[in-house]
Amino acid sequence: ATRAPLRRAEIVIDLAAIRHNVSRLREYLRTPIMTVVKADGYGHGLVEAARAAREGGADWLGVASADEALALRAAGDQGRLLAWLIMPSEPVEDLVAADIDVTAYTVTDLEKFAAAGDALGRTPRVQLKVDTGLSRGGAAFADWSNLVALARILEAEGALRVTGIWSHFASGEDPADPASALQEKVFAEAVTIAEQAGLRPEVRHLANSAGALLRPSARLDLVRVGVATYGIDPAPGVDGSPWAELGLVPAMTVRAELALVKRIDAGAGVSYNHTWVAEEPTTVGLIPVGYAEGIQRRAGNRASVWVGGVQRPVRGTVCMDQIMVDLGDDTSIEPGAEVVLWGTGADGEPTAQDWAEASETIAYEIVTRIGGRMKRRYV
Ligand code: PLP
Repeated sequence: ATRAPLRRAEIVIDLAAIRHNVSRLREYLRTPIMTVVKADGYGHGLVEAARAAREGGADWLGVASADEALALRAAGDQGRLLAWLIMPSEPVEDLVAADIDVTAYTVTDLEKFAAAGDALGRTPRVQLKVDTGLSRGGAAFADWSNLVALARILEAEGALRVTGIWSHFASGEDPADPASALQEKVFAEAVTIAEQAGLRPEVRHLANSAGALLRPSARLDLVRVGVATYGIDPAPGVDGSPWAELGLVPAMTVRAELALVKRIDAGAGVSYNHTWVAEEPTTVGLIPVGYAEGIQRRAGNRASVWVGGVQRPVRGTVCMDQIMVDLGDDTSIEPGAEVVLWGTGADGEPTAQDWAEASETIAYEIVTRIGGRMKRRYV
């Protein structure tokens, strides 16, 4: 069935913003870019975000899972593409056959990729990940020489090609944290060890969005930019950040129409458990999204939404399907009026960052969790 043009609630994705952001980042950083499109393009749509990123000049795409990488190939993407969270239980022949760069953390990974290459008569493109201090994925530094030695032997046999060496920052967004400088140093040592063993990777990369923007020394051959692609500041409020001069544009707007507008009396408690009680008579509006759509429960009584050209406070607890907004004494707002939960901020509406603050989290979580029954519309 068709629905009215202003859907009850929708996620509008501005693909031109993604194209602009990638091209602007490339120009500013003067480094090739891997646009990170994991987690459904940070909630913006895997395939659509990837396409827009390529149009903006993304040299590489980066994803976590094998499924994400294969979905991009199935959608026709033929460029360089790295996956880094391939499970021990997963077969990798399809990844190798699809020319996806795969990440090895262990000698077992290397043997598996080499065996897949052998079975297919192809040379897998393998990137080695070293843990320089995040203590997450990647070979422990103590195991690095072993990993490199086997990689070199397999490469010399033609069983695989080592295309990259990489690592990931723990605190890229915090310039005051000495951890990043230490990670850069450990990474440089890891690269030297690999080179001394005879490896000649095409790309060495370390920086995420924050690292790329705040640490020129970490840009190396490639930067892996996720959140900034979508117009979200990876390091809000950090002194000396070039964010403001970059002019990146948030790509996601979440909007809805008001399901109901009504007057409530002084003393009326709003939503479950009456966590907000009207002191004066006021008008409230019903927004048809809730925690099932990924609206954080913590945002109740803290976030604002944009209605009738101004920001208005969310009142009471976030429910599964709905939240309430306080419209005060504005009599001009009728059911069906447009509500913007977050957008670019250009018209005074809240941003994903505002919702992150209201929800005591980071904007990454705001955009990746939004969804539920809402559909995306691309403009
Ligand atoms: N590289 C890796 C390995 C990641 O896991 C991520 C995302 O967390 C990124 C790069 C991109 O990070 P950001 O979105 O902060 O740019």
